[in-house]
Amino acid sequence: MQRIPLIAGNWKMHTSLAEARELATAVVSACKGLSDREVMIAPPFTALATVAEVVRGSQVRLAAQNVCWAEQGAFTGEIAPGMLQELGCSMAIIGHSERRQIFGESDVLINQRLAGAMHFGIIPVLCFGETLAEREAGQTMAVLERQVRLGLSGITVAEPDRLVLAYEPVWAIGTGKTASEQQAQEAHEFVRNLLFAMYEKSIAQQIRILYGGSVNSGNVDALLRQPDIDGALVGGASLKAESFERIIHFLQ
Ligand code: PEP
Repeated sequence: MQRIPLIAGNWKMHTSLAEARELATAVVSACKGLSDREVMIAPPFTALATVAEVVRGSQVRLAAQNVCWAEQGAFTGEIAPGMLQELGCSMAIIGHSERRQIFGESDVLINQRLAGAMHFGIIPVLCFGETLAEREAGQTMAVLERQVRLGLSGITVAEPDRLVLAYEPVWAIGTGKTASEQQAQEAHEFVRNLLFAMYEKSIAQQIRILYGGSVNSGNVDALLRQPDIDGALVGGASLKAESFERIIHFLQ
């Protein structure tokens, strides 16, 4: 069975409500008639309800940029899975490098978020990736192994389409420096083999691994032609309707 490519847009802390509505409308229209790929957008929490209205009935999936593990309670500043589902969110980005680096989220906390998301039926997009210093020190694969193993610690996967991974080298995020197709494929192949060691073959084979880090309309085709790259997590270029549309329409 082939993995269905997923193109995901992470809007980070951008867009007013009017901008979010306009951008989401453009994404919905760019997706019309596409059946061989999936598209997800992750607006800021404040725009989820607005964007939910726009994507309702379309094939565009709505995601949050983070999610708490608990159903409810004293978790100031957090959002529960059920609250997201009430808004029409079916997915959530977890462990983005900005959460790890700026907000100090640890592998343990990220694992807790992921377990909670899956428990309540939200599909997590687990992000991981090495810093430039780690790459230069030859630690890339060790860092990826640690982040993936700890992020997925105790997680059983019955349906491989209910979990998405995203390799995002930190040095490539928002910098305009993309990993070469070879660098990305090497990391993805490593993670795929790790999944084979952790899960049944039929499951490990089907889990999608996205690449993220300065993906744009010019480099998306070559990246997504790599055998273990199953889609893209796109930051900056997902904020411009024209470039995101071209990315959605990547050439297989
Ligand atoms: C991201 O935010 O996940 C990302 C990959 O950003 P950018 O595409 O801007 O590098």
